Amino acid sequence: PQLINQIAAGEVIERPASVVKELVENAFDAGARQVEVDVEEGGVRLIRIRDDGCGIDREDLGLALSRHATSKIASLEDLERVATLGFRGEALSSISAIARLTLTSRTADAPCGWRVSADGSESGFEIQPAQHARGTTVEVRDLFYNTPARRKFLRAEKTEFGHIQMLVQRMALARFDVGLRLRHNQREVLRLRPDTEEAGGAERIGALCGSDFLEQALRVDFEASGLRLHGWVGLPTFSRSQADLQFFYVNRRLVRDKLVGHAVRQAYQDVMYHQRQPVYVLYLEIDPGLVDVNAHPAKLEVRFREGRMVHDFLFSALHRSIAGHRPGQAVG
Ligand code: ADP
Ligand code: MG
Repeated sequence: PQLINQIAAGEVIERPASVVKELVENAFDAGARQVEVDVEEGGVRLIRIRDDGCGIDREDLGLALSRHATSKIASLEDLERVATLGFRGEALSSISAIARLTLTSRTADAPCGWRVSADGSESGFEIQPAQHARGTTVEVRDLFYNTPARRKFLRAEKTEFGHIQMLVQRMALARFDVGLRLRHNQREVLRLRPDTEEAGGAERIGALCGSDFLEQALRVDFEASGLRLHGWVGLPTFSRSQADLQFFYVNRRLVRDKLVGHAVRQAYQDVMYHQRQPVYVLYLEIDPGLVDVNAHPAKLEVRFREGRMVHDFLFSALHRSIAGHRPGQAVG
């Protein structure tokens, strides 16, 4: 099983940023309000993620490290309607097959925390008491130490950290309500307090997309036939190197999708008579049963059950919002 785990890990864990993605998703799923990410040497030496979420019971600690043990699917129907970010039950076991992993956690009603370590060997898990506030800390050290071929593919420290930073930023855009802090080699790189979209997202959007984007962007909030689209769309007068400001989330998960890109571009150009690339941060809320976001765990693919319907909804939502726009004012 160790080899199988290493192979499985290869599919999910390509680089340090992949580890960060899985662990931050777990923290979000655990209901965390605050997530702290500490990285050393581009994540190869250390990735430590601490959250104040629900924590893991002592009895479940070893289980959490076992392949296909997930607390997130209770039935087959759940699988069809997964609303959480992760559900495959293999992130922690995969990571523990290719790095030295320590999991420390405490639930609200436990008198103390518990810690378990795994380093890819088969020798069971030893669970020991440990000090910890409510929540979970996952420490991942020496990534790919036992898979040298994979380690060779890693880029310079700066490059790997760049991937991590980009990833944390886009995850921060997914969850305004969670405070986030990112440090690299003890230096603070990002600190975001909890914010809300209702309050204008001033801190979150301002910090991540620029206050110039925020000030001119058009607010979108449109609901029809069980779908909701909300967020920010830049006006064509807003000039910026564009490609880096196209964020589209489906049920809080970032996706890159042709159908989505096409609908947004069409609506934008139709109204603006403009060839410029649109800039946007948009959120689609849709019944989880109507979308498959797990086509490939590490990719940003998404499959809509009714693509045509989603496309038309996006087009008309944006078309109406933009057509009736007054800068800075919500429409829909
Ligand atoms: P999945 O997220 O797909 O269920 P993981 O391997 O990522 O699988 O995690 C396994 C299990 O460990 C989760 O189902 C959850 O019960 C528990 N877990 C992992 N990380 C956390 C966390 N930060 N807080 C609480 N529980 C966690
Ligand atoms: Mg997970």
